[in-house]
Amino acid sequence: MGKCALVTGASRSIGAAIAIKLARKGYDIAVGCHAQSSVEKGGEAVAAQCREFGVEAACFVADVADFSQCERMVGEVVGRFGGIDALVNNAGITKDALLVQMSEEQYDTVLAADLKSVFNMMRHAGKRMIKAKHGAIVNITSVAGLYGNRGQANYSAAKAGIVGMTMTAAKELGARGITVNAVAPGFIDTPMTEAMPEKVREAALASIALKRAGTCEDVANAVAFLVSEEAAYITGQVLVVDGGMIM
Ligand code: NAP
Repeated sequence: MGKCALVTGASRSIGAAIAIKLARKGYDIAVGCHAQSSVEKGGEAVAAQCREFGVEAACFVADVADFSQCERMVGEVVGRFGGIDALVNNAGITKDALLVQMSEEQYDTVLAADLKSVFNMMRHAGKRMIKAKHGAIVNITSVAGLYGNRGQANYSAAKAGIVGMTMTAAKELGARGITVNAVAPGFIDTPMTEAMPEKVREAALASIALKRAGTCEDVANAVAFLVSEEAAYITGQVLVVDGGMIM
């Protein structure tokens, strides 16, 4: 069997670009999908695009906020592909509001989908990687987790949590030949940023040194590097992919 990469939230946007990029690099791809509807809306098309590179690809369904669904999905992927060489924790959501107006539900839902999910996936896939004595994990955080962002107390807390968890996992898993890194995108053109008010979008774009929004492929390229042999001696790091937005 070939190398396998499991990418969560791969039915569209950044996750889809990562899946396709890793397929191009020769990985068999487990396209992580939120629900059966995500498979139908995008996941199966992403898997088909991956297969064009001569690798195997299939969709696997789990709500990554759910511990036992992640355990089941990891087991299914290992059953199908023999192991997980690269895990990319990309799935995420936003539910923005100013801190003093944010509901408990907005806070809890984002923390579960964006932070607990990363624990869930590393907990289960990490165990398999330890047995295999090899693996590469990349967690998608955000510049909001490094510098904060108005209206995103929940999201920036979750994304900052990912940074701490990434470094801890790097320390715990390094002796087993497993690297754990994070990628922090800035302003990337996806439905997540399309949902922003026009004024906020304009201000964000104006602050980028390279004077353009990032593409999903910009993020995928960084992930592909971090899971590659070329990055074998890099672990516990946060690679910012923001076109020079925050320096
Ligand atoms: P997106 O277009 O909204 O896609 C998010 C993906 O995550 C979708 O496939 C979605 O599936 C999946 N997902 C959401 N909740 C899930 C759950 N509970 N279980 C499983 N899958 C779930 O977002 P994006 O812009 O590509 O963002 C991808 C990652 O990059 C996120 O972690 C985000 O925080 C991070 N990021 C994005 C930007 C940006 O500018 N876009 C900047 C910094 C960081 P469904 O649609 O089926 O729910």
